Amino acid sequence: MKKMQLSTKILIGLAAGILAGILLQGSPDVANVWIKPFGTLFLNLIKMIIVPLVLASLIVGTCGLGDVKKLGRIGGKTIAYYLLTTAFAVILGLILANIFNVGAGYVLPSDVKAAEASKIPSVVDTLLNIIPTNPIKAAADGNMLQIIAFALILGSGVIALGDKGKPLFDFFDSLAEASYKITGGIMNFAPYAVFALITPVVAANGPKVLLPLLSVIVAVYIGCILHAALVYSSTLAIFAKFNPMKFFKGIFPAQAIAFTTCSSSATLPVNMKCTEGNLGVPKSISSFVLPLGATINMDGTALYQGICALFIANVYGLELTIAQQATIVLTATLASIGTAGVPGAGLIMLTMVLQTVGLPLEGLALVAGIDRILDMARTTVNITGDSACAIIIAASENELDRDCQIKHTYSA
Ligand code: ASP
Repeated sequence: MKKMQLSTKILIGLAAGILAGILLQGSPDVANVWIKPFGTLFLNLIKMIIVPLVLASLIVGTCGLGDVKKLGRIGGKTIAYYLLTTAFAVILGLILANIFNVGAGYVLPSDVKAAEASKIPSVVDTLLNIIPTNPIKAAADGNMLQIIAFALILGSGVIALGDKGKPLFDFFDSLAEASYKITGGIMNFAPYAVFALITPVVAANGPKVLLPLLSVIVAVYIGCILHAALVYSSTLAIFAKFNPMKFFKGIFPAQAIAFTTCSSSATLPVNMKCTEGNLGVPKSISSFVLPLGATINMDGTALYQGICALFIANVYGLELTIAQQATIVLTATLASIGTAGVPGAGLIMLTMVLQTVGLPLEGLALVAGIDRILDMARTTVNITGDSACAIIIAASENELDRDCQIKHTYSA
């Protein structure tokens, strides 16, 4: 019998999970106690592998680029794509929020409490923080931006050493390969994990939670679909001459993991597998572009922040001027860069956007209840953008393997 594709199995897991969640709506505890742990097990396995995988593959990737010039060229192109697509996402969010008139007719619940103004680090602090004073601590804390900085610096050191650096290179190469094999093994559990992760979410978020904020949910989901369809499809077709349908098919397993885990970081190992194994991006490029993207490129988050800012303005009856909306584009782009790739981080960074344009922070409490539902869509877009960028960079460097076929399983 023909082996079923992994993405088909994941899709079945997702559909079965949604169905189970609907059936268990009256008793979410059952979902939490009996089903969720299997999802948590999968998540723990993935989280376990992220730090060694990113550290080792980025060091090997840096060494593989061979010279600082190539590193600068690829880095420049990557960051330009990330910034432009993110700014576009916020603009799209604002347009949709205006069209859907999100929040109109919404009655403020009486129990909206003042949201805690979260501590927002300044831009200077954020930049200074990129260099870890203690790389071991950065790894222990899972601070991705610091790990990336350390890996790039150590990788450059290994290149500078020449022959003497060979043992260190071999060590990290071997560590990267081992982490890679482990990821392949873990991925085969993905269909069950997707089921276990989605069931409790559906069980806990009945129609009561969702209905009042339906316009926000619809705007965010349509925005995410449009952004993927317009921006990624067209840039892939134009800059990489790459078939968008093949792209979406190849990236689907990673999207399903992003949708159910709401974490770009947790999806990174799977995204690397799909982008390399299904879409033909060489490791030297994906191991640079993807970890960076999982940390700083968040188009879905930026789009969501644009929509939510307008929603909150509407609910409080405040008109936003064009200048204020332009400010939202700028701050939401910056805020999304500062957003960590973990569940709910975008909601916290929304504070920054609201504060800059003088919107009431209490508004956060309104969207907090449905944040998980919005997070699923935005995280999916976040990781899709990273993979699209990796393909475009690989094509621009003439390093894309165009004959690469979509894999049916990822067994090691
Ligand atoms: N959960 C998102 C991510 O990991 C970040 C966010 O909350 O917007 O990409």
